[in-house]
Amino acid sequence: MQVGQIIMNNLDQAQRDLLLQALEDLRALLEDTLTQTAVSADTVMLDQQRLGRVSRVDALQQQNMAQANEHQARQRLKQVLSALRLYEEDPDEYGLCRSCDNPIGFARLQVRPETPLCIKCQQSAENN
Ligand SMILES: [Zn+2]
Repeated sequence: MQVGQIIMNNLDQAQRDLLLQALEDLRALLEDTLTQTAVSADTVMLDQQRLGRVSRVDALQQQNMAQANEHQARQRLKQVLSALRLYEEDPDEYGLCRSCDNPIGFARLQVRPETPLCIKCQQSAENN
C-alpha cells in the first residue's frame, strides 16, 4: 500500500486528545440529563391526580417537553457512544465522514465531536 493513498483524518494527537475529552464530557452530561428527565417524568405522573385541570395541562406540557429532550439526549448519547467505540477500535477512522470518507474537519468536530458525517453529507441527509 502506498502511504499517499491512506486516507487520514487530519487530526494531530493534541486535537484527538481534546476531542476524546469532549466526547467523555458529553457522555457524562447526557447520562446526567437522562437520569434527571426520568426522575421528573415520574414526578409528574405521581402528582397528576392531585393537580387541578389547568396545572395538569401545564404538567403534561412539561412532560412532553421533557420527553422530547429525553429523546434528543438519547439519540445524541447513542452517537457519542458509537464515536467513542470507533475511537477505541480504530482511531484513524475517527474524524472521517461515515458516508464519503472525507475528513470531517476539526472545527466541526469541536462543536459536535460525536458527529458521524461531514457538513456536506449532513446537509444532504437533512434535505432528504
Ligand atoms: Zn461526507
